[in-house]
Amino acid sequence: MMLPVCCRYVVERRWYEQWKGFVETGDQNSSSFPGQIDNTELFEDLDSYHLKERLVENEDFMLVPAEAWHKLLTWYGMVDGQPPLERKVVDLPSTLKVEVYPVEIFLCLHSNMENVITSQFSRADNIRELVFAICEAFSVPPGSECRLWMKSSDSSCERLRNIHMSVLDACLSSGMTVIMETRNADGTWPSSRPQIMNSVEDQDSYRGQPGVCGLTNLGNTCFMNSALQCLSNTAPLTEYFLQSSYLEELNFTNPLGMKGEIAEAYADVIKQMWSGRHYSVVPRVFKTKVGHFASQFLGYQQHDSQELLSFLLDGLHEDLNRVKNKEYIELRDADGRPDQEVAEEAWRNHRRRNDSVIVDTFHGLFKSTLVCPECHKVSVTFDPFCYLSVPLPVSKERVMEVFFVSLDPYAKPAQHRVVVPKAGKVSDLCSALSEMTSIPPTQMVVADVFNHRFYKIYNTDESLSCILDRDDIFVYELSVLEEQQEEQVLLALYLRERSHYRDYGSGSSSYGTTLFGHPLLLSVPRSSCSREALYNLFLQRLPGSAPPAEQSQQPCDTTEEDKQEEACSPSPPANEQPAKRRTCRKRRKSLFTIQAVNSNGTTERGSGEGAQPYVAIDWDPEMKKRFYNENEAEKYVKHASMEVPQQQTTVQLQECIELFTTVETLEEENPWYCPVCKKHQLATKKLDLWSLPEVLIIHLKRFSYTKFTREKLDISSPRGLKTCCSDLKSARLQANW
Ligand SMILES: [Zn+2]
Repeated sequence: MMLPVCCRYVVERRWYEQWKGFVETGDQNSSSFPGQIDNTELFEDLDSYHLKERLVENEDFMLVPAEAWHKLLTWYGMVDGQPPLERKVVDLPSTLKVEVYPVEIFLCLHSNMENVITSQFSRADNIRELVFAICEAFSVPPGSECRLWMKSSDSSCERLRNIHMSVLDACLSSGMTVIMETRNADGTWPSSRPQIMNSVEDQDSYRGQPGVCGLTNLGNTCFMNSALQCLSNTAPLTEYFLQSSYLEELNFTNPLGMKGEIAEAYADVIKQMWSGRHYSVVPRVFKTKVGHFASQFLGYQQHDSQELLSFLLDGLHEDLNRVKNKEYIELRDADGRPDQEVAEEAWRNHRRRNDSVIVDTFHGLFKSTLVCPECHKVSVTFDPFCYLSVPLPVSKERVMEVFFVSLDPYAKPAQHRVVVPKAGKVSDLCSALSEMTSIPPTQMVVADVFNHRFYKIYNTDESLSCILDRDDIFVYELSVLEEQQEEQVLLALYLRERSHYRDYGSGSSSYGTTLFGHPLLLSVPRSSCSREALYNLFLQRLPGSAPPAEQSQQPCDTTEEDKQEEACSPSPPANEQPAKRRTCRKRRKSLFTIQAVNSNGTTERGSGEGAQPYVAIDWDPEMKKRFYNENEAEKYVKHASMEVPQQQTTVQLQECIELFTTVETLEEENPWYCPVCKKHQLATKKLDLWSLPEVLIIHLKRFSYTKFTREKLDISSPRGLKTCCSDLKSARLQANW
């Protein structure tokens, strides 16, 4: 630290010696009368009154204390026009010294660097004195926010950031130039504005609503921009910056801070956003500074907005921390003292080391209660927080959209929206659907339909987690069993259209077919598995096919052999080919023929097919055109449940906070040392909000972490978040204060 102890005055030695002789002789009329104090010999010229160089104390000049000087001045006066040479006594390293030669600096404004004045400063002067000198010399309006740059003789420029620094500490020396710039009305600085904007004055003309200002995406920087927008709209913090209160509180020495650079860069963004002169602001300098201090934000990849916000709040806090020397504070145990007392002590201790606009605005206090599972020792601590990172309740329910296909051939598949337990089984889906359709769950089969085929037919005890939201799930109503004793066969039915020409060359019956329409699942008594019976059954069930009256005129000619080849038999006889060919020939006049197929709907049966029988009904293109209305058959209707808005997407903030404050047991990796048991214990821990800040930041954790997984939670509806915001006030009221 350099403090001016007092000051001395430079007096030319000859005059001084003469005065000394005069005084010693005591002869008031002697010729040794010194006359007016005259320092002429010390000056290079009598225009600038610059001191000659290399003058030596006690040879060329004497130093007299201020008191003596004033007496001398009163008695003898001074030669007209000469300035008194008042010099400070400065505490230079190791010795006290009178600064005979002050630092001589050139001062100018950035807007007119031709107009330079020269001014002298003591090494003990603060940079602030330079600001005063420039403002006075160039009539800068008071209160203007300014930045100083020092230019050395090699014309390199450096910011003089800390105006509380001394001339000596800032390494300012004679011959250097200090340039001052004042902030533009649009929040930018003249020296950092792109050249092109200097010439276009129109850029200044936009007058929008201050604060309503976009931030340019610099490539994946929406995480940064969203955090900046949130903070920019936090009134107390933005006012603090707009009123330039931060200038007085910049902490250049905090080792935990960023030498005030983050705070300055943030201030620049805010001042520009709130100038009302920009549609949008390019936060490039800010991003560079952030990347400089936190390299994880350097590139242009996507980051977590909360991570940046947390870094920024911390950086701003340390850059603006009013505490310059953090003292060590030993924490006292609660020792059964009342909560209020312990909490106040914790808050006081926190403020003794952390005192900034960020603490004023955003910091609150948690109460954390740990209970030892063995000795039941209760430990209460109060810890400061800057934001709440609350979990989102994991929904235990799931909304599924499924198509219900009733037995009624004229009813179109109806799309239903059902709510099922997330961990439920297929039977739960059937039960939920049963409530809407009044069809017993036992009369339903659930299948995943893909490309006119069954991708999978589910068993009732299969887990619903096998079903993805994007799957097309069809639930089929099965016919009521009239004779309980008779065995029922679940028949999967595909619709195929024969291509126009048959591939005779291959010698097989695998004529080209194309699947179309929705497949069907039917429950058929084993006794009704003859071709004829099936043909009639299918006719009845086919939606959009010709009315029954017409069908009956085209009886199906079925042979005993056909019966052998019942589609529902899992393993058909090996000699099926000739029979099938004959069947096809005989059936030329029927609407369609029936083929046993595999699950893919092709005639070749692969090995390893399950017990599930699949049949296809093959339509002749002509017949299909005549009797089957494909457009009608593909249609579906929406059940009323589809109109009901999905309710569970709304999450109340209160729920999140309740989850956050739920009692939890510490994990193995992070036990608590119980002072009574003298060992680590898996204590139960409960967090409570003890005191809330003026502005509470709530971070909704979109990821739920368990030991091994990171599950992204769906936030499907922005409506849910909106509700959160409107809940804020009530949440605040319900907390302690
Ligand atoms: Zn214990």
